[in-house]
Amino acid sequence: MAKLGETQPIPERLARFITVCPDSGCWLWNGYIDKDGYGRIDIRVGPKGKRTKKCALAHRVSFAQYVKNIPDGYDVDHKCKVRNCINPDHLQLRYYKFHRGTSGVLIQYQSIGKKVKRKNGE
Ligand SMILES: [Zn+2]
Repeated sequence: MAKLGETQPIPERLARFITVCPDSGCWLWNGYIDKDGYGRIDIRVGPKGKRTKKCALAHRVSFAQYVKNIPDGYDVDHKCKVRNCINPDHLQLRYYKFHRGTSGVLIQYQSIGKKVKRKNGE
């Protein structure tokens, strides 16, 4: 599995910034939180020697680290609905397929992946 490049191992960096909630089991992110409430972590991406810094979403980094790489077109969704949670057990892949109505508004999305249920009409 391709790892996200960083001098200090990602698991150690992730572990430094989490508090485990005893009730929900959520790994609450104590690092930087963006305006949408998602945890952020600086990682280095790109080929060796040409790495650039990227302020990535912590839950995506956690998922890529502990579960698997995130394929193109997929998003990582919180099953627990806690945006700053990075517990890989609480995360799932979602594939977003948008259909735009004539007004340009997104009217539907479809998700696939384990434990994702489709609602009627979607
Ligand atoms: Zn959680």
